[in-house]
Amino acid sequence: MRKLLITIDGPAGAGKTTVSKALADRLEYNYIDTGALYRGVAFEATTRGMAAEDDAGLETMCQNLDLRFIRDAGGARLYSGGVDISGHIRSPEMSMMASAVSARPVVRRALLEVQRKLGAEKAAVFEGRDMGTVVFPEADIKFFLTADLSVRALRRHRELEEKRSPQHFEEVKKDMERRDQNDSSRKEAPLKPADDAILIDSTHLSVDQIIAHMLDFVKKKIAEVNN
Ligand code: C5P
Repeated sequence: MRKLLITIDGPAGAGKTTVSKALADRLEYNYIDTGALYRGVAFEATTRGMAAEDDAGLETMCQNLDLRFIRDAGGARLYSGGVDISGHIRSPEMSMMASAVSARPVVRRALLEVQRKLGAEKAAVFEGRDMGTVVFPEADIKFFLTADLSVRALRRHRELEEKRSPQHFEEVKKDMERRDQNDSSRKEAPLKPADDAILIDSTHLSVDQIIAHMLDFVKKKIAEVNN
């Protein structure tokens, strides 16, 4: 049976991670979190004391970077140069740094190759910002998941509380708005739906409802490509 490559793009806090993981589980596909790769670059740049605007430094660093996902019982962990950096990449500071370095064409170019290699065998759900527009324009199904800013900020606020690194709601919302603005206005690969993307507004939908809706499209597509 032919396997699909599915992309899920959208702004921060729209529910992409939860939905992408669940969809990949249901289909027995790989789940690839491309935001983690940008966070990996942000972490390595920060560790080296580099500024997000240091294109020459970022380019050299990216050429020598070895970012890999290694799966364990709890999901995928991100390794850089053989070291598990998963515990360091989710802080609010890394979110902002990832957003800043992701606007640099040298970084996007380096990660483009990494991502395409990961998608070579299909049977995968890729989550990101430019999966359907730039990285996999030929993807079998492209979803664009969004939600109102306040709802997205509230979800992220709760998530941070659960991780015991709470941040004031207004601050979460402000950071998110800034990140959205950076991601949508950058010249290279801005956050936007592909022309052929299926738009889903998750503001008033539960995770189960979103997944059910997506599975309808996926089942139709599977039947179509295997006919
Ligand atoms: O998805 P996540 O919030 O972990 O992504 C962190 C940052 O990485 C985003 O704010 C965005 O700037 C960048 N990113 C990107 N392209 C992707 C995935 C993430 O520019 N495909």
